[in-house]
Amino acid sequence: LLQGSVLPRMMGRGAAAPFSTASGETVRATLFPGDGIGPEIAESVKQVFNVAGVPIEWEEHYVGTEVDPRTESFLTWESLESVRRNKVGLKGPMATPIGKGHRSLNLTLRKELGLYANVRPCNSLPGYKTRYDDVNLVTIRENTEGEYSGLEHQVVRGVVESLKIITRQASLRVAEYAFHYAKANGRERVSAIHKANIMRKTDGLFLKCCREVAEKYPEIAYEEVIIDNCCMTLVKNPGLFDVLVMPNLYGDIISDLCAGLIGGLGLTPSCNIGEGGICLAEAVHGSAPDIAGKNLANPTALLLSAVMMLRHLQFNNQADRIHNAILQTISEGKFRTADLGGKASTSDFTKAVCDYI
Ligand code: NAD
Repeated sequence: LLQGSVLPRMMGRGAAAPFSTASGETVRATLFPGDGIGPEIAESVKQVFNVAGVPIEWEEHYVGTEVDPRTESFLTWESLESVRRNKVGLKGPMATPIGKGHRSLNLTLRKELGLYANVRPCNSLPGYKTRYDDVNLVTIRENTEGEYSGLEHQVVRGVVESLKIITRQASLRVAEYAFHYAKANGRERVSAIHKANIMRKTDGLFLKCCREVAEKYPEIAYEEVIIDNCCMTLVKNPGLFDVLVMPNLYGDIISDLCAGLIGGLGLTPSCNIGEGGICLAEAVHGSAPDIAGKNLANPTALLLSAVMMLRHLQFNNQADRIHNAILQTISEGKFRTADLGGKASTSDFTKAVCDYI
């Protein structure tokens, strides 16, 4: 099980170590460089992996220029097959036009690959000061339904309807994942985040499923928190939370809020867990069109996502060394990117991380 939340806080240059799988083989993984800043930060990951001697061979897939009828989106069937075959991958951000156009690439990936849980750890970075230095929580977002079911239509002129779908099956599955994750990662509490006082049927069912699963894990404390109260508490005292599990839309919003607590979207990683043991890691942030192509993006979020992928593969040695080098670079402060108040470019930062490995 992904050990993404217990990111080790080691500092200091790592000792050289042999790099290979137990059997000495190279692992194939799918890489979607994605849109906007995606290719720049994906390049950063490739460079860092090379220096760290990670035995991964990338199968790179770009978003197509035409709709593939087999996926009904710009994602090619071959790229989905690549993830299904490799069961592990790294994804750059993919842009979605607002209010029009083709089926969202991200939704297509989640649906087609059954990526049912999105795990988003959020940890204060030692040496980078924000209002808090004790943020250490994990958001687990249901990834396949809720308001993201894509069921929208016009009822009559001037009235539109968007359906929020919550199923017992998906709710139980994500709740089970959250509790299992908490147990496997030495976490103490799971908070189910909801608005069941208003969304009685949908969030009500989600909560019922969380309660059912909670009973199977008596060693993990369980609580239910209404989303508005959750936002207020996160801003006032984020140290009160441990693992948070919630329906899709809330997870999308809350994890950006959490990113803000530790320094912004340039820092927060995630991993999508899918059917058949698929692990597709990706940064929480989007394609950042405002800074794309300018060598300004902070690659930390994608690098930390890649570290989550390495831990999933049990390449813990390389994961530790890369993670350690990222923390050193940010803590030392000379090569911070603009989002963290520095002047370093994406490539300056990447080089500094490589030098620390
Ligand atoms: P965004 O996350 O792309 O950007 C929000 C702000 O954060 C921008 O100011 C951006 O410059 C900054 N930012 C984000 N990542 C950064 C990084 N690594 N380094 C430095 N600054 C960074 O959100 P948005 O502008 O709302 O969305 C842009 C596009 O991305 C949209 O098409 C959206 O649909 C898509 N998107 C994709 C994903 C995904 O692929 N998982 C997630 C969110 C948004």
